[in-house]
Order: sequence, then C-alpha cells, then structure tokens
Amino acid sequence: MNNLASLLLVAICLQIFCLPVQQSYGQGRSDAVSTDILDSDAFFRQSVVRPRLRDYSAQVEALLRKMTIEEKVGQMTQLEIGQITSGADSNINIDQAKLDKAIVQYKVGSILNVAGHALSVDKWHEVIGAIQSDAQKTRLKIPVIYGIDSIHGANYVRGATLFPQEIGMAASWNPALVQRAQEITAMETRAAAIPWSFSPVLDIGRQPLWPRFWETFGEDPYLATVLGTAFIRGLEGTDVSSDRSVASSLKHYVGYSYPVSGRDRTSALIPENHLREYFLPTFAAAVKAGARTVMVNSAEINGVPGHINKYLLTDVLKTELGFDGFIVSDWEDIRKLVTQWKVALDEKEATRLAVMAGIDMSMVPSGYSFSDNLLALVKEKKVPMTRIDDAVRRILRVKFQLGLFENPMPDASVKANFAKPEHAAASLQAARETMTLLKNSGNILPLAKNRKVLVTGPTSDSLISLNNGWTWTWQGSEPSLYPTDKMTIQQAIEAKMGKKNFEFRPGTRITRRPNSPVGGTPVDYDEEVNVKAAVDEAKDSDVVVLCLGEGSYTETPGNITDLTLSETQLRFAEAIIATGKPVVLVLVEGRPRIISRIADKVAAIVMAYNPSNEGGQAVADVLFGDYNPNGKLPFTYPRTPNNYLTYDHKLFETEATSFGNTSTSPQFEFGTGLSYTTFSYSDLVVSPKSAAMNAPVTVSFKVANTGQRAGKETAILYVRDEVATSTPSGKRVKRFAKVYLEPGQSRTLNFTLNRADLSFIGQNNKPVVDPGDFTVMVGGLSDKFTLR
Ligand code: BGC
Repeated sequence: MNNLASLLLVAICLQIFCLPVQQSYGQGRSDAVSTDILDSDAFFRQSVVRPRLRDYSAQVEALLRKMTIEEKVGQMTQLEIGQITSGADSNINIDQAKLDKAIVQYKVGSILNVAGHALSVDKWHEVIGAIQSDAQKTRLKIPVIYGIDSIHGANYVRGATLFPQEIGMAASWNPALVQRAQEITAMETRAAAIPWSFSPVLDIGRQPLWPRFWETFGEDPYLATVLGTAFIRGLEGTDVSSDRSVASSLKHYVGYSYPVSGRDRTSALIPENHLREYFLPTFAAAVKAGARTVMVNSAEINGVPGHINKYLLTDVLKTELGFDGFIVSDWEDIRKLVTQWKVALDEKEATRLAVMAGIDMSMVPSGYSFSDNLLALVKEKKVPMTRIDDAVRRILRVKFQLGLFENPMPDASVKANFAKPEHAAASLQAARETMTLLKNSGNILPLAKNRKVLVTGPTSDSLISLNNGWTWTWQGSEPSLYPTDKMTIQQAIEAKMGKKNFEFRPGTRITRRPNSPVGGTPVDYDEEVNVKAAVDEAKDSDVVVLCLGEGSYTETPGNITDLTLSETQLRFAEAIIATGKPVVLVLVEGRPRIISRIADKVAAIVMAYNPSNEGGQAVADVLFGDYNPNGKLPFTYPRTPNNYLTYDHKLFETEATSFGNTSTSPQFEFGTGLSYTTFSYSDLVVSPKSAAMNAPVTVSFKVANTGQRAGKETAILYVRDEVATSTPSGKRVKRFAKVYLEPGQSRTLNFTLNRADLSFIGQNNKPVVDPGDFTVMVGGLSDKFTLR
C-alpha cells in the first residue's frame, strides 16, 4: 500500500472506530481502530481490503528458471523440528548433520512447530538463525519459512501474551478486539523470528461434540466472517513483510468441523449448497482479504478426503476464489491417504493424488518420503512440471512478500516487541469482553464484597482450564510451564475481596490419566477431592461460586461420546445446591457441556469459555461488578445432547405439531448475554417497504440504556426470508453492531442490506434471491419488507 493510501485508511479508522478512552486496547496499530459504535459491515469492509503488496513476479520467475527439480521439490517439503534437532522440550539442540541433510541435501523449504514445548525468544532466535545460516550455504540461498501454531497468542514462545481462545473472542462480537489481539500475536511471533502462523481456524462450529469447537468463532458464518477477516488484518497487517506481521494460514479448508460422529478427523457429509452457504464464506472472505496460506481439512467430506479434493482445492479455492498464496497439507495427511483413508495403495500414489489436487507444500512432517516420491513422479512424468512450477511459484512469492529474502536472519531488535505490559492489558480487556452472563435470577450478581463467599469446583483453581489446548504444549496440559504470576479464578477472587470473607475448597478436580485409550495420549477425568469439606463450607457461606467445565484438550485426545457434563461434576454441583445457598455457576469450557440437571437450580450462570491467563481476573471483575459483562453466546447451548439445533434452523423444527412433536428449546439461545444494566430497543424503521430487486434496504432503530450503569450492547440484526425456493431458515444474522451507552443514553443504529444479504445458495449451488416478503428482527422488534 502506498503512503497516501495508508494515511487515508488510518484517517477512516480514526473517524469510524474511536473507542471511549477507558475502553482503549493499549498501544499499537489499531489503537484508534475502535469506537463507541462498532458496526460489523463498516469493519468488514475495512478488513477485507487486500493490501497492495510489492510485485515480486520478476524475482520469482528468475529464481524458478535457475532451480533444479530437486530444489523445487525441496521447497514443497515441510518437516517438523525434530528432524533437525536432538533432545526434547527446551533441551533441544540443532543437530548439524540432520540439519545439513534437510537443508543442504534435500533443500527443504519449510520447518514447523516445537519438539515438546514452547521455547524462549532467545532459543527461537538461535534455532531459526541456525536454519537460515544453513539455507545460506545452498546454491540459491532460498530462505526457509518457519511455521508455528500461534493459536491464541504466540503460545509456543515461553512468556508470550496469550488471549482468550477464538470461541470466547467470538462472544465479544468485537472485530476491533480480534484485530488487536492478532496484531500482538503477530508481533510476538515475529519477535521470536517466526514469520508464519497456522491460524485462524475458520471452520464453523456447528457440531458441539467436536474437540476443536472452541478453536472456532462459533456457529454463525457471518459473525465468523467478520471476525475472521479482522483476524487476518491483525496478523498480516497491511504489509506482511513488517517485523510486526506474520503470514496467516486459513484452516482447515473446508468442512473439517462438521463430522457426523463428532470425533476429530472423521467423515462429514455436506452437500455443496450447504458447503457454500455455511462453510465456505469465511474462507472466501479471508482469501479476498489477502491471506497468504491455506491449510487443508485432515478429514473428508462426502467420501473425498480433503487432501485429494481437486474440485475444492484447485477449482474453487485457486481458480474461483483467486487464491494466489500456497496450500499446505495438514500433519502427515499425505501418508494418511494410505493408512487411514485407503484411497491410495502406497505413499507415492498418495503424493501424486494430493499434488495433482492442488497441495503445494506437504507437512510430511517426518522423513523424506514425500521428496523422494515427488522427485520420482516428476521424472516419470506422472506429475507435470507445470504443476510443480505453480506450487513453487506460490511458495517463493510468499517468501518474498514476507521479506525473507531481504532479511533471512533473525534480527535481535525485534525481541523488544515481546510481552509488553500493554499486551497483557489488551488480553485482560479481551477476557472481560468475552464473559457472557447467561442467567442472573433476582440480580444476585454483582456480588457485594462483604458477603461470605465460597469458591469451589474443578475449574476454580486451574490456569490449564482457563487456557485449554495450544498452550505451551499441544494439549496445554503441562502445569510446570504456566506463568506463576497469573491468577486462577479463586486467586483472583481472593485478591479482590480479601481473606476475611473468602474460602476456597476445590471439592473435585480434573486430572490427567497418563495412559489413556486414545493412542497413548493423556486425557482428562474428573475426581472428587473432598466433597464434604466443600459442602460444609458452603453451608457456612452466603453464596457459592461454583466453577465447572473442562480441562484442556484438542484434536483426537479431546473426543467425547457424551456432551453431558461428567457425572462427578453434576453430583458435586447437586451436593452444593442441596445446601440451599445461592449458587453462581461459572463455566470454564470449550464446548457447551449439558447442564440441564442443574441449570434451573443455580441463581446465576457466567460462561467464561477459555479466557486464558487474565481470565481469573476477568471472571472476578464480572462477579463483583467491576466490569459490566457484555458477551453474547456465539453458539446455541443445547438442553439435551440429542436435540441440538443451530439458531438458524427451519422454523417448524422447534414447533409443536399435530403429530405429537413436542416443542423444543435450547438451554440458552444463540446471542444470549445479560448485562448489569438494561437496554431497550425502539423506533424500528425499514425502508423502503417495497423494494426493487437491486435496491438497498435500510434498517434503523434506537437502542437505549435504561438502567443504572454504563454498558455495552451488541445489537444483532436477523433477517428471515418468508417463502423461498429452498426451505428458508427461521432467521439468519445479517449485521451486528456493538455500542457503548451511558445510563439514559440512546443511539440510533443504521444498517443497509444489499441484494447479497438477501440471497442464499440455491439448488444449483449458486446464490439466488427470491422476490417476496422478508422479516427483519432486532432486539425483540420486527418489521417486514417486500422485494419486488
Ligand atoms: C492440526 C493443525 C495444526 C498442525 C500443525 C495438526 O494436527 O490439525 O491445526 O496446525 O497440526 O501443528
């Protein structure tokens, strides 16, 4: 982007997105990118603008002409760090012989991840420095691109600032917050000399059993699209070569999150119209926003493994959406075409299928089978040079755009960008803004600081539960790696109210079973610690803060067969409830575990998701009213495990019918979120009432703070197509805006709906708009318009 354009952008941001001072997110590029009205469409239109990066085609083509087949195949190969080091965890060291084999002999273009757990910034500089020095020894000196999972902050760098996981960020309905969190993540990842993050997850969370549900922005494609593009802008900035930006990787393209069984990496059945309606829009928008890489769905849809789906990888992603970055496979997924999916007899055939489908780089990640097989395939003319050149061109382009050719070696000065105090402040602000108040009977919350409080339950004293997976290790379950200066929920409550009226009894805990049935990977189970001590103390208290939920997990180790919260936790909750003391339930969990047995018997419920290291503080701030909660559920919280419907279901699905179908309702609706103040909606005006097909429809309404304290409200605008050529949803989110209001203050919000907003993917898999009546709904109001 040229200077004038950047100035303009900053000016627009300043104009539209200035936050009140007390809500500011600290120093950084988007300090000004916030406002007292955050409008989803305005923010989206700003984030989706693809930055104009320098054109490197001449350099790329010149290099490509000089490269041997071996050098090209090397660029397409990605190995895990254990292939070039010895030792584990922080005791790893570069093994020069292994490194030379990878970089000098095999000319490998990319390395990824950690050997066990997070490394210090200094150690990363040493490792990356050694890798790039080796690359400098090669004939063409092509730098290596190192990639890492910075999932909620630079979580593989010791001491990094971590943020709430995506599902909580979604509950904030705040794209400025998402962008800011990613700016910091990018800065801290680059501070460790790493230029590429395997994030964001743009899969849509519509299968709550799925163990990566919490890695998503929830069930709604529009919300996830707005937040997904804000994520890209945060990570990649407007110049991805900057030492404050990294390349993103959109994952996991596409349909990975919707397995029929709910288990990770199992089959999904998604017809193309549904794929395009619900699962593709996040990726399409992020590609438009300029995202540099894409990672592929490890599973399959409709019987075709993601890694050999030429239609989706090449025809849709590269051709139709115009993606010009490179596609990386997921972990070992070419091999798994043989071992798991059984679509190839051997790895060589699997390699051919995957590369011909459009995979540009293979996350092998161990050994040289991919390189050897691909080389042979090219020599046997089973993979044409044009396909290889296309892949390598894409990889080289990204390396140039990242500035790796100009500055391959780690620059010590970037370390200064790491873990600044204002980054922790931004994380705290994010954690607060994720907190979602689901129930508050008799306004039991906020709690007075002089009441006698018992804090109990398995997630009340656990930074592991607050963080979940991808925290210092893959599973996030190693307690010794967690910072000692961050507070768990019980510690934060004690710090806030003092010792006098505070008691803590864990009652139950979540423990790791070292040898689980799941491939030897440890998984969690719940056990009682001293239930009686907790119950006795509850009897002696005015109110009990009961923290339930989950430990840490991701991918296969997080598979469950029942969405219901464990029997141990439910029994414990019932024992506490039986004391007759008012119970405030705090849920620290990555997916909606069923709580219907206890939900009606507790006075208040706060959904905390996985708010990370400032989450203890954020929970305490909300419980005691030092922060007015404003999160809203980004998914439907089911009441029973087998009656799960997303909010955008067909109307008849929840209605009682003459055939004896009973009406059903979730435990908490999508979009639920209370405040300590009250908001009222009025003056809904939809115009024109009868609109021509291509004419915009404007919607305006007033939101007022009718309570006693300042607060933020997210207005969610839903639209229903009354009658359509494919069965219409009861409602779909089309716009939202987050607004800050002082007591007594009101604001008028305006949205414009365009033809695209009123369309859906029809039976021919293309967008259609049907004329007829549409209903607009916001904050309990509704009105209609007709499309002619
Ligand atoms: C996960 C990806 C991740 C990759 C590299 C895979 O198992 O599915 O999300 O980016 O590992 O760590």
